[in-house]
Amino acid sequence: MMYYNENTIIYFNGEFVKAKDAHIDLYSQSLHYGYSVFEGIRSYPINGGTKIFKAKEHYDRLRYSASVMKMPFTHTTEELTELTYETLRRNNFTDAYIRPIVVCSANMSLTKGIESHLAIEAWEWTNGYLANKMRVKTSSFRRPNPSGFYMEAKVSGHYVNSILACQEAKDNGYDEALLLDNQGFVAEGPGANVFYEKGGVLFTPAKGNILPGITRATVMELCDELNIPVKETRFTPDDMRGADCGFYCGTAAEVVELASLDDVPFRLQWENSLGSLIQRAYKAKVMEQDFNSKQDLNTNLAVA
Ligand code: PMP
Repeated sequence: MMYYNENTIIYFNGEFVKAKDAHIDLYSQSLHYGYSVFEGIRSYPINGGTKIFKAKEHYDRLRYSASVMKMPFTHTTEELTELTYETLRRNNFTDAYIRPIVVCSANMSLTKGIESHLAIEAWEWTNGYLANKMRVKTSSFRRPNPSGFYMEAKVSGHYVNSILACQEAKDNGYDEALLLDNQGFVAEGPGANVFYEKGGVLFTPAKGNILPGITRATVMELCDELNIPVKETRFTPDDMRGADCGFYCGTAAEVVELASLDDVPFRLQWENSLGSLIQRAYKAKVMEQDFNSKQDLNTNLAVA
């Protein structure tokens, strides 16, 4: 996957520059210790232009992440949003994935960052690296202990755990991992939140051991609009295996079907599940299209 070419423009440290000309310091605290914070954001082609989905939520979270990590970072959400639209405009991107990252300067000590640098990178969205139906395996790697990290912050160092879990799943012939928390309850995927359906109710892990995603919040808003009961709770892989349906959700994945967990398939045809309904409603929402929920929901209930 090529993320940039010789013409790609990024925002970096106060100016728009070519991606190929931008560099970070090899003595950066971020590189050595995973001490950087970032976001993953989508923009969609709408009405001949582009619209960033939930820009405020993403940039509020970036500022929260920088703040709990005690990084010097003073940009407002409005400034960050403006800079992102300008980055998209300069590259002529409408359908894009946007990756802002805050990196810290050279510093080998284990104290807070001295100076931070903001980069806003973007590339055209192709969806090519995501499966549309995933066979998932419970990981032997657990999510970090929440008393050791700010689980609600999106910090680069947390992703070492995600890489271990995802690669383990792939090495064993699966598409993706499911990570448990340190007490053995289901937490999340390496880069996505998880839901499952049983008896007309959706279940998702409560906050505390997860990155509570912006997509997860959107799914819950949609459940509210569609009168789908959803419970934030603790559950084990045993509760989830063989349930009616399962899905992962995240900014990049959107809503993606789980085919099986630990080789046990989900019971319903995806088309007849609440997951499929949420998937269609999510797509309509990001594209700012009307979603005929009543008609869709009735069809769903008739066949489920
Ligand atoms: N959990 C983890 C570990 C993630 O990396 C992501 C992706 N940011 C999510 C959940 C989903 O978050 P969001 O919906 O905000 O993209």
